Amino acid sequence: MSDTLVRTVPIKLDVGANAPALVETARRFNAAATWIARVCWDEGITNTNTAHHRVYGQTRADYGLGAQLAVCARAKAMEAIKAARKTGGDMCPAWRVDAAVRYDARTYRLLPLDGVSLNTVEGRVICRLLPGQRQRDMLLETSWRIGGADLVRRKGVWYLHLTQHKPAPEPDDATGYIGVDLGVARIATTDDGTIYDGAQVTAVRACIAYKALAAGLVVAYVDPRDTSRTCAACGHCARANRRDQSHFLCLRCGHEANADVNAARNIAARAGVNQPIVLPRAGLRLCMASTSRLL
Ligand SMILES: [Zn+2]
Repeated sequence: MSDTLVRTVPIKLDVGANAPALVETARRFNAAATWIARVCWDEGITNTNTAHHRVYGQTRADYGLGAQLAVCARAKAMEAIKAARKTGGDMCPAWRVDAAVRYDARTYRLLPLDGVSLNTVEGRVICRLLPGQRQRDMLLETSWRIGGADLVRRKGVWYLHLTQHKPAPEPDDATGYIGVDLGVARIATTDDGTIYDGAQVTAVRACIAYKALAAGLVVAYVDPRDTSRTCAACGHCARANRRDQSHFLCLRCGHEANADVNAARNIAARAGVNQPIVLPRAGLRLCMASTSRLL
């Protein structure tokens, strides 16, 4: 089965006189999503159909949402619960009344001349999209299909976050590995000796798996234990090999390197040895020494 790439195109929205309808829609939608999440969380409901039968009628009656917005609120709640459970979270998801409203193919429609029709608690309203050149270019890329959207209000400005998706490219067979050590002194070091820090690496950490996927690469997570004290040249493992935070000198073979670079080499090698957790399939393997929860 092919993996799917997903990206978001945030576009500013001119809502004209429709702001009150959108505010009220967001209020009821998020109150409903919060209530649905509470019910499903407390009652241990994970199945979509079960959730639908349990909450649909009451969502419509108590929150005054139309049929499709009620379905979207349930989808938002269930997705958040799933994500929370997956990461071992013990907090039931909840939303502020001005959080995003989820739209699907039945609740919003793109119109000619940058118009967009949105389902609200006061019926359909038409707003105007104000895409910049970059957003316009993204929308015109025919390889990406447009999916759902989130209506978002930030500091009083409305945006529509359109979701686009396309099948991920089939990667080639693995030809090598890049080891990345997410360290403390320097935030990340790759095995060719390039050291990243600050903003550079924040970006690397935030969406790395996604970028790798888009480029046909694979992210493999490896056990990082001892990678900082093991010699990448001869495999000798000793705490004393690491002279200080930045300096690695092997007591057996004399191999000398920047300590982070040495560790990154070990990580890369390790992905080839261990059974990596691979996502998805593989070209070049990108190995993150990550028990790190930063990714
Ligand atoms: Zn050595």
